[in-house]
Amino acid sequence: MSAAGILDLTAAAAADAIAGGSLSAGELFNAYRERAVEDRAAGEAGLNCFTWVAEQSAGADHPGPLGGVPLAVKDLFCTEGIPSQAGSRILEGYLPPYTATVVSRLHAGGAPLMAKTNQDEFAMGSSNENSAFGPVRNPWDRTRVPGGSSGGSAAAVAAGLAPWALGTDTGGSIRQPAALCGIVGLKPTYGAVSRYGMIAFASSLDQAGPLTRDVTDAGLMLRHMVGRDPCDATSLSVPHEIELPSAERLDGVRLGVPQELTGEGIEPGVLDAFHAALERAQELGAEVHDVHLPHAPHALSAYYVLAPAECSSNLARYDGVRYGLRASDPHDLLDMYMRTRHDGFGAEVKRRIMLGTYALSSGYYDAYYGRAQRVRTKIAEDFRAAFEQIDFVLTPTAPSVAFRLGEKTADPLAMYLNDYCTVPMSLAGIPAISIPCGSSEGLPVGLQIAGPAFSENRLLDAALALEQSFAFDARPARV
Ligand code: GLN
Repeated sequence: MSAAGILDLTAAAAADAIAGGSLSAGELFNAYRERAVEDRAAGEAGLNCFTWVAEQSAGADHPGPLGGVPLAVKDLFCTEGIPSQAGSRILEGYLPPYTATVVSRLHAGGAPLMAKTNQDEFAMGSSNENSAFGPVRNPWDRTRVPGGSSGGSAAAVAAGLAPWALGTDTGGSIRQPAALCGIVGLKPTYGAVSRYGMIAFASSLDQAGPLTRDVTDAGLMLRHMVGRDPCDATSLSVPHEIELPSAERLDGVRLGVPQELTGEGIEPGVLDAFHAALERAQELGAEVHDVHLPHAPHALSAYYVLAPAECSSNLARYDGVRYGLRASDPHDLLDMYMRTRHDGFGAEVKRRIMLGTYALSSGYYDAYYGRAQRVRTKIAEDFRAAFEQIDFVLTPTAPSVAFRLGEKTADPLAMYLNDYCTVPMSLAGIPAISIPCGSSEGLPVGLQIAGPAFSENRLLDAALALEQSFAFDARPARV
């Protein structure tokens, strides 16, 4: 098979080609590895997707159900003996002594680790500009951001530098970059996937998930990620095995469109693509209903109390004693802590630690943290009530198409608004997928489909039917 032909295959198709003998796992690995090495060597002149690329495949002789298709993994997944810095200077030189459960499971399923991907520092960001490794560029237009925080994973898959990739989503970090890069991104139900070995941002929200070229690949990857892990007490066994999706129609499926997330603040071009997607859904037999999520407009405010609160606690461990960076020649312990954290953390991480510490301080705890928790409960109840009337909630994934590098860096609140449509699902712990549904100004637009907890199989089916009807098979020019 020609090199270009190899790169055109989806992960599932590549696995089939390997199983059928028309392609070898080694050939596939090397075809991608070569491109990843080139991007890495180009530094910021390239897309800057990768922080580390494997010398060779550590794949097993038997390719397994994932066929030997190589995997790119967000930097924040611990990988034994391999740099894992979560995009931060403070973890410079850190080589984890163990591997994250999801990465081990995917490896065992037959997806060898090929590369680690660039990300916003500790997964805080919506543009991948908050990385100690420099920004990632969007393959559709290099003057634009790929979204974040899993921007390296999304750009790599969109540009054909990796067949598929692992990301994490706390408030939108799989779905939003998937939307901005024109690929598929799935955030599973909270607890469906083990967080063991994922460098934590906000533990009650963080969840790993696939970034893939199509819905089938997302199902295939997820199938080998889920399940209870004794090392993560919040992980659960999923009630049904993840099936590969097969639906072609949406007959009788009730789709709910929440006014609160589909009006003000969404770019007109994005809304046009969203409405066109709803028409397609109706042609496939779906019913479209208005639905109300009355507390959803408060999701962002609650998230930006809760996530910083959790991060201020999770990031307390980076003090120069145990991991990575340590300030040189400190004159006492406090000086070492302070200079290590001053030099090691970037501006956004420091902002969140301060916000979170403030929100948790005695005297303010009830007013901020307690209140945000109550809003979170209300949001979960809104979804529960909505799912009594409808099967899925549909929204645009992000309020705009990919924006320009530097456009929002000076205005954190404008940056935070990117997550307006994705954060409610994160707070409710429910699964949501973003699939490309069209374009605006020549840039991809994502459609978000969210369902009740553990509805991944139905969600993937609905996403597949829509994906086929959108026939969005545009790809950025190959780099
Ligand atoms: N952009 C959001 C934030 O900065 C979400 C990040 C994420 O999901 N990891 O917190």
